[in-house]
Amino acid sequence: MTIYFCIMFFIIGTIFGSFYNVVGYRLPKGESLLSPGSHCPNCNHRLSPLELIPIFSWLLQHGKCKNCKGKIALFYPIFEASCGFLFMLCYLVFGLSLELIIALTFTSMIIIVVLTDYYYMIIPDEVLIFFIIALIVEIYLIFGLKTLGLSLLHAILAFGVMFLLKIFGDKMFKREAMGGGDVKLMFVFGLVLGAPMTVVSIFLASILGLPISLILMHKKRGEEIPFGPYLSLGALIVFFLQLDLDTLISLLTFY
Ligand SMILES: [Zn+2]
Repeated sequence: MTIYFCIMFFIIGTIFGSFYNVVGYRLPKGESLLSPGSHCPNCNHRLSPLELIPIFSWLLQHGKCKNCKGKIALFYPIFEASCGFLFMLCYLVFGLSLELIIALTFTSMIIIVVLTDYYYMIIPDEVLIFFIIALIVEIYLIFGLKTLGLSLLHAILAFGVMFLLKIFGDKMFKREAMGGGDVKLMFVFGLVLGAPMTVVSIFLASILGLPISLILMHKKRGEEIPFGPYLSLGALIVFFLQLDLDTLISLLTFY
């Protein structure tokens, strides 16, 4: 049975993923999410429903537009497959539980944030506000008011920690070391992961981000590198491993 659900969540993930790509690409530009429908960037050919099927349409058309034979980036099927994989992972970690709803919401936000940060180096307030409201409602309905209150406290704490890090970083590097979006993103991380695990995810992000950033900085001198994707990766690791303070302390004191 598990395997059927895995396949189902994978497919749902690819469908949502192809929509999130539209959101991540169009929302920061202030474009409508619904019209015009998806089209080939090369020849403006409007995609038919058959051409919109995630991954498969790309494979069937050998990565080319049906109309102009222009190349369609490999990024699309890889991105859609990654979304499918993340949705499947949500199911595998949380099962068919109420928490699964929170997991899918949180993962969806991370996917969109990574995209907008990657495309435009911004994390739009609209995205954060939408998901903060969705998560607050979900936490309240699933866990009740007491848990929600505690979660909000963690969110404010996580935001505060990142805000201090930003002030410190800006002073140290004498320029904006971190975007405001990254700081606001920590509010959502705090809400879902709790403040201590948010700090762990920031730490993970720095470890993961530093070597990659150094390589990229060398290649594209002077260009800024978004920190959001690393923060998101750190958060996903913490989230899917379901790390908590007790596990972490026992892991660290074991050695
Ligand atoms: Zn085309």
